[in-house]
Amino acid sequence: MREFKIAEPRTADELAALLAESAEPVALMAGGTDILDELKSGVATASLVIDLDKVAGLRGIGKEKGGLRIGAMTRVVELADDATVAAEYPSLKQAALSLATPQLRNSGTVGGNLCQRPRCWYYRDPQVVCRKKGGFNCYAYQGRNKYHAIFGGSGCFIVYPSDLAPALISLGAQATIGTAKGDKVAPLEAFYAGPDADATRENVLAKGQFLKSVWVPAPKAGQKAAYVKLKERGTWDFALVSAAVAGVVEAGAFKEIAIVMGGVAPVPWRAKKAEDALRGKPVTEAVIRQAADEVLKDAAPLRENGYKTGLVFAALKRAVLAVV
Ligand SMILES: Cc1cc2nc3c(=O)[nH]c(=O)nc-3n(C[C@H](O)[C@H](O)[C@H](O)COP(=O)(O)OP(=O)(O)OC[C@H]3O[C@@H](n4cnc5c(N)ncnc54)[C@H](O)[C@@H]3O)c2cc1C
Repeated sequence: MREFKIAEPRTADELAALLAESAEPVALMAGGTDILDELKSGVATASLVIDLDKVAGLRGIGKEKGGLRIGAMTRVVELADDATVAAEYPSLKQAALSLATPQLRNSGTVGGNLCQRPRCWYYRDPQVVCRKKGGFNCYAYQGRNKYHAIFGGSGCFIVYPSDLAPALISLGAQATIGTAKGDKVAPLEAFYAGPDADATRENVLAKGQFLKSVWVPAPKAGQKAAYVKLKERGTWDFALVSAAVAGVVEAGAFKEIAIVMGGVAPVPWRAKKAEDALRGKPVTEAVIRQAADEVLKDAAPLRENGYKTGLVFAALKRAVLAVV
């Protein structure tokens, strides 16, 4: 492991100033469950690691402006155990409990989960300089691509691995980004950016910026939501395909609906065409099939991951039926 210095800022302002002023390569460390592996393998290189653990105000869950504010340093286990989350945002609890292992949920944070780097085996190989590392090729495109993207690949076919992101986006979450010039608030959906924007990153954080918290609006009257994750193994695993569905149902039909899929694209994938196909119609298996077919019109499976198209229908069906 290469040597690095550690900084332990105590306030968000100190953190923002440190990030903005640092001339050397910097890595943020939250729970450290992923970044330490990346530093050890040499996939991440940083001479300064900034530990977020002692930054005041980044941890905790609390009511704010009618909704729920979740600090970036909140542990995933705290989210899964929170009584308000269980009562008002059950799909978020399902997503939190679906991810990784109890040990990782104890140490891993919400911010770390939302900002984690992809699991693509070419990216994770320190010998490979792929597009995500500033190279010219995506080796998954013509290589081994069983776990890769079927939507939105365009030159880099990673899938975004977070389980919390689809659930939070389907609930209308907003992200608060800390900067040296003050906080910025944006929909969490717009926090993520695909390879079209910049293949070396997965989000819009610029130098000097960090994720401070997310805020989820109060549930609407009659709102229901579910998160369904399809995995290769019964024990811990990343999603092959997941579906977060949130909506308001009246007389067996969706009056409002948001669908966000995981495991299928370099960003959490908003399935607007499926939303349009489902909105206002009595939900039947045929309508769900039609909704899946609509969203799959944009799919471009690779050599080894065509099976994911079937899982899109299966995940969507289970999540929609759990809600209506
Ligand atoms: C074996 C294993 C299985 C896993 N399974 C799943 C799974 O099924 N589903 C899933 O969703 N995840 C899974 N994960 C990922 C796990 O949830 C992440 O390791 C964890 O969420 C990262 O949290 P952390 O706090 O430890 O982040 P760290 O490791 O500290 O950081 C992760 C990344 O986020 C950046 N970062 C952290 N906090 C911030 C912030 N506030 N602002 C900006 N950047 C930040 C860091 O710089 C780093 O790049 C798995 C991980 C492992 C090792």
